[in-house]
Amino acid sequence: MGRVTGLARVYIADTPAEAWHIHNVLAQHGIQSRLMNEALFGATGEIPVLESLPEVWVKESEVVEAEAIIKAVRSEPVPNSSWLCHDCGEHIDSVFAICWKCGASLADAAE
Ligand SMILES: [Zn+2]
Repeated sequence: MGRVTGLARVYIADTPAEAWHIHNVLAQHGIQSRLMNEALFGATGEIPVLESLPEVWVKESEVVEAEAIIKAVRSEPVPNSSWLCHDCGEHIDSVFAICWKCGASLADAAE
């Protein structure tokens, strides 16, 4: 059934990069997450796209907190082009509005 004991899925990403971004943001908040299906992404072409999308799973006890963090990440304004983090200088892909490395947000930089 695809269910892993003690874990719950909190997010289905469009791309492996997005899944890793969520993973890194959660890690900054002290939540260890596991990526599922990431290894299958684009592997053979025989796997239906919907089944190979990378998923982010966390401990059931941390689901509420993780979902709140993900919601905050997703509601951030998304820039049209890639940007440099104002705190650590990391190059961030345009689909993300929060630095995966240090957690600074693009919105903060604009203020
Ligand atoms: Zn940064």
